[in-house]
Amino acid sequence: MGKPTGFKEFERKTGSYKPEKERINNFEDIYIPLDYSEVQTQASRCMDCGVPFCNYSCPLGNLIPDFNDLVFNGQWKKALQLLHLTNNFPEFTGKICPAPCESGCVLGLINPPVTIEQIELSLATMGWENNWIKPLPPALKTGKKVAIIGSGPSGLAAAQQLARIGHSVTVFERADEIGGCLRYGIPDYKLPKSYIDRRVNQMKAEGVKFITSSNVGTDISADRLISDFDAICLTGGSTEPRDLSVSGRGLDGIYFAMDYLPQANKRAAGKQIPSKELIDAKDKRVIVIGGGDTGSDCVGTALRQGAIDVIQLELLPIPPTERDASQPWPVMPKLHKSSSSHLEAEAVLGKDVRNFSVGTKSFEGINGIVTKINCIKLDWIPQENGGFPKMQEIPGSEFSLAADIVLFAMGFLHPEHTGILEQLGVEFDARGNVKTDSNYSTNIDKVFSAGDMRKGQSLVVHAIAEGRNLAEKVDKYLINQ
Ligand SMILES: Cc1cc2nc3c(=O)[nH]c(=O)nc-3n(C[C@H](O)[C@H](O)[C@H](O)COP(=O)(O)OP(=O)(O)OC[C@H]3O[C@@H](n4cnc5c(N)ncnc54)[C@H](O)[C@@H]3O)c2cc1C
Repeated sequence: MGKPTGFKEFERKTGSYKPEKERINNFEDIYIPLDYSEVQTQASRCMDCGVPFCNYSCPLGNLIPDFNDLVFNGQWKKALQLLHLTNNFPEFTGKICPAPCESGCVLGLINPPVTIEQIELSLATMGWENNWIKPLPPALKTGKKVAIIGSGPSGLAAAQQLARIGHSVTVFERADEIGGCLRYGIPDYKLPKSYIDRRVNQMKAEGVKFITSSNVGTDISADRLISDFDAICLTGGSTEPRDLSVSGRGLDGIYFAMDYLPQANKRAAGKQIPSKELIDAKDKRVIVIGGGDTGSDCVGTALRQGAIDVIQLELLPIPPTERDASQPWPVMPKLHKSSSSHLEAEAVLGKDVRNFSVGTKSFEGINGIVTKINCIKLDWIPQENGGFPKMQEIPGSEFSLAADIVLFAMGFLHPEHTGILEQLGVEFDARGNVKTDSNYSTNIDKVFSAGDMRKGQSLVVHAIAEGRNLAEKVDKYLINQ
């Protein structure tokens, strides 16, 4: 490494955030990155550790020690080229990845790990600022036509890889804009949508054709796809939300998070939502059920809309704050961490909005509109065989909370089985995701799948990796046709 003693000399530093009370007044980016000279110093903390677990921990296999060394030596353009070899969209992961690479950093065994995610983001930012990121259109076209259904990170990564090889790629997206969860799930304050637009422009210049507002299965039939394309890639995401069948579920004011968040992103983009469909948290008491990323995004969005109270309920117990024996290094541990939205809630509402080990018993309402949620506290009983703890309601612990809006953010079960998947006749695995073999091939000839639709609900970094793997398999298939 450029500076073998860097990890002894410098402490970990990462970017900061705008003050909570200021940032909740709008949906603008909340992150203040480190300046480039500090990033260079941070890169020098990368040790010559011998076995780069960061590289193995990254689903994309990013060549982290190598680009850290180049950054430390000021060779930013070369470092970005190296990063682009394994990651099509380092600014997406640089912004919103939970960074399994940092969990696997060897320095993390004794000290805070290298700030890899910030280095990745800085590389991409510098690349865009200096016009280093250019379209890479193919020298030759293969004459093969590929349809990609769904424009989330898996579909985009697959489309870019396949177009660069020379295949003619058409991406179909049922939403009015490209990006999947990046566009209409993750809020702008975490990921500005200009990040997606400039990649879409790059891909258009590489020959990718984008067709939006096109629901494949309704607007275009399976038969038509099969006859018009040489390969079909299903990258439609995991979109069937987990529901709660308790009394009062049918009341107005109870919504799925993915009915709420896409609207908020559209409004942030200046789009109008018809008033009868509008879900607005202004002056409302909001209950968010579900403690993951989606739930946290609901908290931050509701605060920005002017909610007077927000409470987040989670069924599972509070996770540990430090690695325990069940989550040894280098695995990415599930720890109790406060998201930017939780910190905002603390600053604005003066409390930790999270409540763990809480079950939902029923909803009550007046004139068909929800006003109250009835809950119970839960105990999680450890199992002798080391299996997952057993949930038990605590007798007499029932309590109620006032609610004007309830948002379900309890995760996603699998893709929608109706529509294009039904028409094509693809098989599903035991969890209801699209079943493929190791070549990402479904049971239907020339039909492939990747991303959350195949893997189940996951992360952006996995979706990009899936899209890249899919592209490789589809290319091999097309070459042999
Ligand atoms: C609210 C929220 C917050 C998240 N936050 C994070 C985070 O901070 N960090 C992180 O790493 N991950 C996060 N995730 C997870 C991450 O966004 C997903 O794992 C990732 O986007 C999956 O990518 P994908 O390409 O497989 O599918 P998606 O991004 O879901 O994209 C699928 C696309 O396919 C389209 N589609 C589906 N069916 C059809 C059809 N029949 N015709 C045409 N188009 C169709 C959909 O409209 C959608 O645009 C979050 C997810 C959500 C919902």
